[in-house]
Amino acid sequence: MSPDEGAFDLLIRGGTIVDGSGAPPFVGDIGLREGRIIAVGRVEGPAARTIDAAGLAVSPGFIDVHSHDDAAVMSTCMDFKLMQGVTTVIAGNCGAGVAPLRDDGSFAIPGMDTVLGALPEVTWRTFGEYMQAVERSEPAINVGCFVPHGVVRYRHLGMDHRAPSAAELGAMRADVEEGMAAGALGLSTGLIYPPGAFAQTEELIALTDAVAEHGGIYMSHIRDESGRLLDAVSEAIRIGREAGTPVQISHHKASGRSNWGKTEDSIALIERERDAGTDVTFDAYPYTAASTVLAVMARAPEPLPPEAILVSSVSGQPEWEGKTVAQLADNFACSPDEAIRRVLAADPGALAVFFLMHEDDVRRVLAHPLCMIGSDGIPSAGKPHPRLYGTFPRVLGKYVREEKLMALEEGVRKMTSLPAARMGLGDRGLLKAGYAADIAVFDPDAISDRATYEDPRQYPAGIEYVIVNGQVAAERGELRTAVRAGRLLRRGAASRPQEEREASHGH
Ligand SMILES: [Zn+2]
Repeated sequence: MSPDEGAFDLLIRGGTIVDGSGAPPFVGDIGLREGRIIAVGRVEGPAARTIDAAGLAVSPGFIDVHSHDDAAVMSTCMDFKLMQGVTTVIAGNCGAGVAPLRDDGSFAIPGMDTVLGALPEVTWRTFGEYMQAVERSEPAINVGCFVPHGVVRYRHLGMDHRAPSAAELGAMRADVEEGMAAGALGLSTGLIYPPGAFAQTEELIALTDAVAEHGGIYMSHIRDESGRLLDAVSEAIRIGREAGTPVQISHHKASGRSNWGKTEDSIALIERERDAGTDVTFDAYPYTAASTVLAVMARAPEPLPPEAILVSSVSGQPEWEGKTVAQLADNFACSPDEAIRRVLAADPGALAVFFLMHEDDVRRVLAHPLCMIGSDGIPSAGKPHPRLYGTFPRVLGKYVREEKLMALEEGVRKMTSLPAARMGLGDRGLLKAGYAADIAVFDPDAISDRATYEDPRQYPAGIEYVIVNGQVAAERGELRTAVRAGRLLRRGAASRPQEEREASHGH
């Protein structure tokens, strides 16, 4: 496109362009206008503002394919994501979320509400109305949404541990269809959390079938990430195959010492199923510790040692946050089991961090070409897992620069074009004329996470500019809180030629 058509709103000059496709970086300029990328390469022309990016990397804004920011996008400035270079979050994961509401106006699955952090005023009932509420809130970041199976099931069956009747299944399916018709990206499940865990495979196939009609995907926190990991991967793949949707396995891992190394088999299984025709991908965060509600993990078949469980959020007991169960048992002069009981008595929704993965599994999963990056960050009070503030810079600092697990362009692809293609986001995830102007400018020699388990609320180093739909949302370590340039992203809303979608799918 010719720059003569008018001045640029913003010209980013002389950066090392890592365009998101996985292609080798090159030095060039990028011209933006009205929220779109107008030109990439050698760009000339007047500009309202010019950023000198010499020595810096310029990439598409990062896409957090696994967030729990359903409420946070409305109730916060999203600093913890924007400051990482993230410009899009995908919400509604693990079957958890804030819509649709039950007929009595409630939605919060008991014990799961703390995961989603502070809520704004609830002005919606259906999933489509929730999406409209996100849009009306003018979020600071782009948001794509999955219909959460656990919430849908809770609406119709409460916490009943049984299969739905035909009428109940029909009502659940109607809720999924309503969300999909409103532009949701697919259906998510969390099959370790009640009530999602009460669903049998047939129920999930029937609901995912409604997703297939709208071109959505099935995304799952699978039923078991430890002893029965392979069975759980097979179940997820079967659901997608029988319903006719692609499958995304969330935060792929092998939990617990006796399962370390099993990602070798799980990835081989995924590769075989892909060869046989089912479109399966996965995501991961770059840490050996997980985090979720303490009550769920306390029931796990293979209990972790008390020093491997770090209590991260307990409402009313901030002095317990950041302590391991072993330390709390010491303080209370009781057994570790009793310490867990006391924490759960104070707050049934208490959250914790669990050191349960082996670094070799984390590296194997992250490095695989089918793996995209999702933080799984929990925007809770207390001392959340550092992945909330550190995931993306950690991949580009620790795993790309320091450990050379992958090239810079491959690390960027995993957080840009790969998730954009998977989520059907159309015009995002690449630096290309005509695409939305979501851009991260960072110093590849300095980028690193600073959030730690002890002190998790630390912005990363090395992120210089973060641009959301053409607006500078963060600049040299400062968040522009007044800029709320995010959009609600609906499935299929963006248009670009089919062959480009195929090309960006790649590898
Ligand atoms: Zn999960």
